[in-house]
Amino acid sequence: MNSKELTMEILTEIEKIEVIDSHAHIYPESERVARDTDVLEMIDNYVIGDLCAAGCPPQVAQKIVNPKEEIAPRWELLAPYWPKIRNGSYARMWTRTVKDLFGCEEMSAAALAEATEKMRQANKPGWYKQVLKDRCNIAISVLDNSDVGTDCDRELFVPAIRATQFIEARTKQQIEELSANTDRGIHSLDDLVNAAQSHISQAHAEGAVALKVGQAYRRTLQYDKVTGAEAERLFNRIFAHLGEGLSWAEAKPLQDYMLHKCLQAAMENGMTIIFHTGLQAGGNNLITNTNPTLLTNLFLEYKQARFDLFHAGYPYARECGVLAKYFPNVWADLAWAHIISAAGTRQILADWLDLIPANKIIGFGGDLRHVELVYGHLYEARRNIAQVLADRVARGDDTEKEALRVAQFLLHDSPAEAFNLSL
Ligand SMILES: [Zn+2]
Repeated sequence: MNSKELTMEILTEIEKIEVIDSHAHIYPESERVARDTDVLEMIDNYVIGDLCAAGCPPQVAQKIVNPKEEIAPRWELLAPYWPKIRNGSYARMWTRTVKDLFGCEEMSAAALAEATEKMRQANKPGWYKQVLKDRCNIAISVLDNSDVGTDCDRELFVPAIRATQFIEARTKQQIEELSANTDRGIHSLDDLVNAAQSHISQAHAEGAVALKVGQAYRRTLQYDKVTGAEAERLFNRIFAHLGEGLSWAEAKPLQDYMLHKCLQAAMENGMTIIFHTGLQAGGNNLITNTNPTLLTNLFLEYKQARFDLFHAGYPYARECGVLAKYFPNVWADLAWAHIISAAGTRQILADWLDLIPANKIIGFGGDLRHVELVYGHLYEARRNIAQVLADRVARGDDTEKEALRVAQFLLHDSPAEAFNLSL
């Protein structure tokens, strides 16, 4: 059998594995069916980042993704950039999606308008299930959508929650809003901690399986150990003015303290702690803030917690892999990675499979708002996994049966273990 045939044979078997998607941002179906959408709006999920990186002004990119306008003039705006961005994994996810779900075979205004017509016909209750279950064979997706909290369709999703509003509070106005939203007076650091703890345990009681920390977009992942006295002094300073609050730099020790408290609460409730590590969507950011090795003190301290490191820490994938090798309670997760760079992810996965136990690698997380794109992303992810496994079989490292067992870990068993899901 040549390597292409072997890859195809493995791919066919992989497609039968029910997938646990470690990461979704999908908005509610009720919201979706209540409005028109189109195939160009979908590129606001990531493709737009490459569009801007290629030189498209952001305001033009915003016009391209606006579904209130006609397709033809928007395609005219996109067309000059298309040859520059179509090589990327983001673009490939999108073209695969519109081709397979809506029959769009070429990039032209007419073909995109026709595909949009099909998309709108499909925009009915039940569409999410059709895509996620019937087309993608996804058993369940971990949903990270702060707008809905724990309120989601439990046939398709299990919720993850955030505690950002507690960790990042640094102005009087924010504290007052928190007080109002949590229906309790917050006048001391203890009050803030109690409010955060009750937010987390209530979410757990409502079925949340994870606490997501997305702070790497805004600050370093170095969470120092801070005394209560220092944190309290900073908290009290928030009230020392009429509202100017603490600067972001001043607030760091308070944030560090609150992160430890929230992490402890999640751990006590048996919830997994997810960290965004690596690449930040949208660019214009500090990549060095996101290095997962900055979290090492947390892994050394909290042995009873389960940690999931998202996005392969890209480009710190080697570091991410080493952390999963060092610590039994740390998982290395390829969420988003297959569309950041498919080729990069094949290299990472090949490395990780020689480096880390298979039950510590999570093979797929869609990381998308538009349900349809999960199809295109998973298509790429399965192809990637099949190709890496076929290489291992060809080298004689695994038998085909052993390779398929690895795939079962990547797409199902590892995320089930990381999130303590019984499926
Ligand atoms: Zn995400």
